[in-house]
This record gives sequence, structure tokens and C-alpha cells, in this order.
Amino acid sequence: MDRGFLFGDGVYEVFPTYNNNIFGLDAHLNRLQEGLDAIKIKNPHSKNEWINLIEKILSFNSVSADQAIYLQVSRGCDQNRKHTHGDLKPTVYIQASTMPLRIKEELLKGKTAISRDDIRWSQCNTKATSLLANTMYAQEAKVENAEEAILCKDGIVTEGASSNVFIVKNNLISTHPKGPKILPGITRDAVISCAKRLNLEVQEITFDKDALMNADEVWITSSTREILPITLIDNKKIGTGNAGPLWSLIYDSFQDSKNAKRSVSGRRLKKIESIIQN
Ligand code: PMP
Repeated sequence: MDRGFLFGDGVYEVFPTYNNNIFGLDAHLNRLQEGLDAIKIKNPHSKNEWINLIEKILSFNSVSADQAIYLQVSRGCDQNRKHTHGDLKPTVYIQASTMPLRIKEELLKGKTAISRDDIRWSQCNTKATSLLANTMYAQEAKVENAEEAILCKDGIVTEGASSNVFIVKNNLISTHPKGPKILPGITRDAVISCAKRLNLEVQEITFDKDALMNADEVWITSSTREILPITLIDNKKIGTGNAGPLWSLIYDSFQDSKNAKRSVSGRRLKKIESIIQN
């Protein structure tokens, strides 16, 4: 009778962790709060309680592997299956899984994508657990041996089935503006920060499918895949057909920012070691 199961009535977050340091912790917790507010579920935990739960889950696994923490808050269990609900106790589900490391040399040859019409609802900025359209797109991409399905609504490129999309044309980087048509990706923000640090020009602006197909570079970003170069879309080569120079710069800058954060919060590791010992 859990409404998460019956209706997909809940929100979720995915926290990437590198060597037991949670990347973008505040940003992910803030987005979780925004999602809960948007669907009117009371946050069952304080920020510190969430951190303790995540660190406890991390401590169960090998301390050396990078892990993704998936957590879900559903509205909770009801007596009957009814569309409406009363005041329920939210259900929390958390899991950790290892994140496979992607080596830059392997990424240089780029990944493949397909394009699809974006038929999703108009509240895509809420990270809702009801992901039927997204999972269908992802499956279609898998069947075509593609990394991602890139979505277009009314001719405008919105995002990927589970990623944000960037294009580069003449050294100018563009990505869809935040709003109800895309999920405000935490990696998207990190990439924009990296670009600004590198004095590269970034605009949060809409662009159409022609701009996508004729871009010099296309990237997708997400917490578990970081920044991937897309070099073939619908069997058409993008740019040179290999990862571009701006992707390479941003990729390196992103790796540096991960490592910088790791050393700042190295004390977390100490805490985890003590949890394991106890
Ligand atoms: N858009 C969609 C639809 C997604 O599912 C995701 C990944 N959950 C993203 C964008 C990327 O968001 P993030 O960088 O926070 O993982």
C-alpha cells in the first residue's frame, strides 16, 4: 500500500561519492527539499540526519570504491489504493551501489545518442520517482546500443533521458535554461562553474535540434556519468567524430574539483572509519 509503489508518488536523489566524500552534498539535499516541497511531502529528516544515514550506508561497503547513493522518499503507506491521501508517514529507502570509473582515454572516442520527442509532463524540474517516459527512452537507447536518448520538445533540445545536454559551437557553450522543462542537474551546475573558472563562455539558452546536430561538441552530464562526449547522434557524426578540446578541458577541471573537495572533507573518512570500528 506504499504510494511510491502504487503511484510513483515520491521523489529521489542520487549522491555521487568519491572515496567516501559526498560530491555536491548541499546541492543534492537542497534539491531533495525542493522536490519534497513541490509535491507536499514533509521532509522526514534534518540535514544532519540525512548525512548520518548516507555515511552509515557508505560504511557498509568497501571504503575504496566510488559509490552512488540512491535515496527515495515516498508519501508512505495508506489503508486503500485511492488517488487522494491523508497525512501519511513518508517511507525512506536508501541504497549504495558502486560507480564504475570511466577512464578519460576511453571516453575520448565519444559515445552515441539517439534523439526522441520529449513527451514528458511539464514539471520535469521535480525529481519524481515516476520515471516511466525516462525509462522508456533509456530502454530505446539501450536497444540501439546508445548511451543516451536526447529529448526535443517543440523543436527545442531539453535534456537527456537521465542527463543534461550541452553543445559547443565556435567555443561558445550552451545548455537549456533551468525551469520546468529540465531537471536542474547538479553536474550541470558544476560544469558551468568549471567553464567559468576556465574563462570559457557559457550561456543558459534554448537551442534547436539543428544546432544540436551541427554543434562542434555535444556533452551529457549526470552525477553517475559525470561529463560524457557524444560524438554520434542518430548515426550522424558530431563535429570531428571524437571528443572535442573543450570537453577535455572541462573534464580535467571537473576531476580537479572532485579531488579538491575530497581533500577538504577528508575528515569524513575518519568518521566512517570510526563507524566501521564500532
Ligand atoms: N536530467 C534528468 C532527467 C536526470 O534524470 C538526471 C540525472 N538524475 C539529470 C538531468 C542530471 O542530474 P544530476 O547531474 O544532478 O545527476
